[in-house]
Amino acid sequence: MFDLSSYNTFNLTVYAQAGRVITAPEDLTQPLGGPYIILGAGSDVLFTEDFAGTVLINRIGGIELGSKVDERGAPNDLGDHILVRVGGGVLLDELIDYLLDQGICGLENLSLIPGTVGAAPIQNVGAYGVEIGTFIAQIEARDVLSGKQVILSGEQCRFGYRTSIFKEQGWSSLFITHVTFKLPLKFTPKVNYAGLQSCEFKQARALRERVIALRNEKLPNPKYVGNAGSFFKNPYVSAQVVAQLKERYEQVPCYPQSDGSFKLAAGWLIDKANCRGIKHGQVGTWGNQALVIVNLGGAKPHEVVALAKYVSAEVQNKFALDLVPEVRLYGKHGELSWDQI
Ligand code: NAP
Repeated sequence: MFDLSSYNTFNLTVYAQAGRVITAPEDLTQPLGGPYIILGAGSDVLFTEDFAGTVLINRIGGIELGSKVDERGAPNDLGDHILVRVGGGVLLDELIDYLLDQGICGLENLSLIPGTVGAAPIQNVGAYGVEIGTFIAQIEARDVLSGKQVILSGEQCRFGYRTSIFKEQGWSSLFITHVTFKLPLKFTPKVNYAGLQSCEFKQARALRERVIALRNEKLPNPKYVGNAGSFFKNPYVSAQVVAQLKERYEQVPCYPQSDGSFKLAAGWLIDKANCRGIKHGQVGTWGNQALVIVNLGGAKPHEVVALAKYVSAEVQNKFALDLVPEVRLYGKHGELSWDQI
C-alpha cells in the first residue's frame, strides 16, 4: 500500500494500491494498465476513501528561460515577452518567486496558490483577476494509456473558468510534463480586486507581497491546517436571479460577465447560509473564508464529504442555488462526480 497522507493537502490518511514518483517524461513511455490518478502537490483533491489503483506523482523539475515554442528554430518575435518552459512538478509559487528575480512578471497575482505547474492548467487556476491559462503558450503531456507524447497550444487547451480540456472526457489521461509560458518583461499591475485597488505598485514583487499578505490574512496555510483551498466554485447566475437576491440582500456581491450572466461569491452564500466557521467532528469551514473546508486534526474522509454536503444543502435551502466542488473527488476506483458521493 502507498501512503497518500503527505500527497494530499487535506492531510487525510488514505492509501493507494501503488504510487510512482515521475521525474522525467520517459518514465511514462510504457502504457499503464489499471486504474490510475495523476497528482501534483495534491492541493486540489479530496480522497473520499482508499484508492484501488496507482497514483502517479508529478515531480518533473526544471525551468528553461527563453525556450522556443517554434521548433523550426526561427527566432520568435516575442517583443517584450519571454518564453519559459517549466517542468510540471515545479511548485507554482516557487516558479513565480524565481521569475520575479529574473525580471519576468505576469503571474504575481497567483502568488501563494499551492500546487504544481503541471496541475495548474487543469483547473486553470486563478486569483485576483488573473488566470494561468492566459499565459500558457504550449503544453507537453504524455498520454499514460498509450505512452505517447501530446503537444497542445494554449488555444487548444480550451481554458475556461476553473476548467480546461484536461477535465474533458477522453483527455484526462494526459500527464502534463512541461508547460511553456509566454510572459511579459514589462510589469503591468492588475489591481481590480479589493485589497489591491488602493495600492500603487511600482514593482511586480510588491504586488506579489501584497497578494501573499492578503491570502495569509484570509486563507489557512495547508502546511499547518489541512485544506484544499476553495472547496466550491463560484456559481454563475442570470440577471433575474441577481435581481431576486437584491430584494433580500441589497449588498449581494456579484460580478457582471461579458455574456450577461453574473458571478456570485460562493463564500458569501455559505456565510449567509450560516455555515461560516462551523465545525462537524474534526472538520470545519474556515472562519475568515467560508469557502475553505479544513481538517481540524485527524479528520476522516467521510467527515469532509458530510460537511461539504451539509454546506451545499444549506445554500440550496436558503438560495435555491447549487454549489459544485472546485476540488476533484476521488473514490476507490477513480474520479467521482459530486452526485456520486
Ligand atoms: P474575495 O475577495 O472574498 O471575493 C469573493 C469572490 O468574489 C472571489 O472568489 C472572486 O471570484 C470574486 N471577486 C472578488 N472581487 C472581484 C472582482 N473585482 N472582479 C471579479 N470577481 C471578483 O475572495 P478571496 O477568498 O479573498 O480570494 C481572493 C482571490 O484568490 C480570488 O480570486 C479567489 O478565487 C482566489 N483564490 C483562488 C483559489 C484557487 O484557485 N483554488 C483558492 C483560494 C483563493 P474569483 O474566484 O473568480 O476570482
